[in-house]
Amino acid sequence: MRPSILFPLFAPLTSLPGLGPRLGKLAERLTGPHIIDLLWHLPNGLIDRRFAPKVAEAPAGRIATLTVTVDDHQAPASPRQPWRIRCRDETGFLELVFFHVHPAWLEKHLPLGRSVVVSGRIELFNDIPKISHPDYIGPAEDHDFVATVEPVYPLTTGITPKVLRKAIAAAFTRTPELPEWLDPALKAREAWPDWRVALASAHAPADESDLSPENPARTRLAYDELLANQLALALVRASQRRLPGIALTPTGMLRAKVLAALPYHLTAAQNRSLAEIDGDLTAPRRMLRLLQGDVGSGKTIVAFLAMLSAIETGSQAALMAPTEILARQHVATLTPLAEAAGIRIGSLTGRDKGKNRERLCADIAAGAIDLVIGTHTLFQDDILFHDLAVVVIDEQHRFGVHQRLALTAKGKGIDVLVMTATPIPRTLTLTAYGDMEVSRLDEKPPGRQPIKTATIALDRLDEVVDGLIRRLDSGARAYWVCPLIEESETLDLAAVTERFAALQQRLGPRVGLVHGRMKAADKDRVMEQFANGAIDLLVATTVIEVGVNVPEATVMVIEHAERFGLAQLHQMRGRVGRGQGASTCLLLYDPKAGATARSRLAALKDTEDGFAIAEADLRLRGAGELLGTRQSGLPEFRLADLSLHGALLAIARDDAQLIVHRDPDLESGRGAALRILLYLFERDTVIRNLRSG
Ligand code: ADP
Ligand code: MG
Repeated sequence: MRPSILFPLFAPLTSLPGLGPRLGKLAERLTGPHIIDLLWHLPNGLIDRRFAPKVAEAPAGRIATLTVTVDDHQAPASPRQPWRIRCRDETGFLELVFFHVHPAWLEKHLPLGRSVVVSGRIELFNDIPKISHPDYIGPAEDHDFVATVEPVYPLTTGITPKVLRKAIAAAFTRTPELPEWLDPALKAREAWPDWRVALASAHAPADESDLSPENPARTRLAYDELLANQLALALVRASQRRLPGIALTPTGMLRAKVLAALPYHLTAAQNRSLAEIDGDLTAPRRMLRLLQGDVGSGKTIVAFLAMLSAIETGSQAALMAPTEILARQHVATLTPLAEAAGIRIGSLTGRDKGKNRERLCADIAAGAIDLVIGTHTLFQDDILFHDLAVVVIDEQHRFGVHQRLALTAKGKGIDVLVMTATPIPRTLTLTAYGDMEVSRLDEKPPGRQPIKTATIALDRLDEVVDGLIRRLDSGARAYWVCPLIEESETLDLAAVTERFAALQQRLGPRVGLVHGRMKAADKDRVMEQFANGAIDLLVATTVIEVGVNVPEATVMVIEHAERFGLAQLHQMRGRVGRGQGASTCLLLYDPKAGATARSRLAALKDTEDGFAIAEADLRLRGAGELLGTRQSGLPEFRLADLSLHGALLAIARDDAQLIVHRDPDLESGRGAALRILLYLFERDTVIRNLRSG
């Protein structure tokens, strides 16, 4: 239950003055539904209205606040001309200019002879200073109210700065002081203000330096958010560790058979990761481990060998892929290895229905299948395993901590291995997978050829297509990826279909198309045709981003590469360079794209190291912008910016570990305050797992 001290902060935005149902909806979309969301909507700029010169001293281009007397109203000759209102002080004239304003409004607010305060940007016209549409007009008594520093907020159409400022001011009156959850020594060392003071000062910047993420108030708020994130993960990890697991006692017999059947030796990184996994499997606690490795680093075989350890002891293993295509691909690659080991393999996806599904379910429940490969269908309620011991989740960057928790609830003491090819910077790994142990495959199998990467402006498309046709004619297979942006799936679908039609016109039936809206069976059919060479050019959306393995493909063309994140481009590039042939990746960019976009793409030309690329992506764009973050299961931070606050995150992790070590159920005084922190950032699901939650 949310502590009552936080109730006012979780009241709906519409309970604030000025935010009725209509504006409330808009504000909600801008900030989030609760008052706390509005309070976390921090200014990104400021307007200094403290400059209050006499009219004669008002310089062009500056924002100024002036006290003047209304001298004359000059009605326009035609409705398309502006109203001009001449004002003066003892030093000269100031003209106020208004387009499309109701005369009655002007007469009410700027009556002749009235002394008024106006604020806005000064322009000079024929040596007369003027302000078009002042930001403020009020009686002269308002001067002190107007001549201040005004925070500027990110806005959305329909919400004016005034509405937002008023709502935030009202929200503040309802904001309680909260008990301090920070470590006193850390707080003193960093000279951080109290929570409420920090929030207030973040909303009242006095100069540019107050807007900097390094400002103490902002840093404190960012740290709070990171601490909530790290503490939640540390608590999950601690509660996982408290649950009993099963200590497997594998003999290594099945594994030996498979290793003997493999045409290669494991890399040192694969052996190391496997040893780490074995350590977990044989220990009487649950495994929750991330196997992180670049595309092509050989995660699948590691996972398979790990699952054999469970199967060897008579238990079952399950491998879950994010899509049907990938599930089928795993079935295809693992079936021969399963035969070598003499184990029974089955596959279950959303497409298995009726009798077929019933039979599979019965086999799984009876333990007649040792290894089940499928999609998320595997974890539907009616799928009962006979004795599930190990679950491997492939390319699972679409799941979050909570799904992982739900998954481990599927059986008693299940060991979980998560494989991801998303090269996540170390800092982000901490925020998303801080509840897991990490094994890294930081070495590629030998013999891989480097991929030649080039950036080409889209206006040279014809040349690209000519070159591509030459490559295809000499036997190459190629991917052509069109971007799919979430906001308008339909438009992008149109774009990919159009590109497909254009290429088909030149190349005929050798071109295939896959996109996310196709029926799974159709997708599989096209993928199969591409894999067996019936078609040699595959036009696709990012559905091919993860995992698909066609070693014969040697050309990757990515259209509008500037719209993708570097990490995502890197993953797509990893679809080629998997076989014997030399591979090429062409990044086609919109010539209208800015210089930053181009330099980002250039970074891809320099390296094939996914982790280096991910770090560069983080540096160049900031964590919040990493494309695909939303689907990635990586947490989104409101106050912290991981491209700037990486060091804070490390402090928060250590802090969280110490807390969980000393006060695992958050029962001390600081513990109680930390519970409030978790509720404040809505990380409170973990509290239910505490002993005295
Ligand atoms: P990932 O899933 O990490 O992208 P895969 O597991 O699909 O990579 O492996 C990519 C390819 O490399 C597969 O064809 C696999 O058979 C092969 N492979 C894996 N490990 C090795 C190794 N140690 N030596 C040579 N080839 C390997
Ligand atoms: Mg894979």
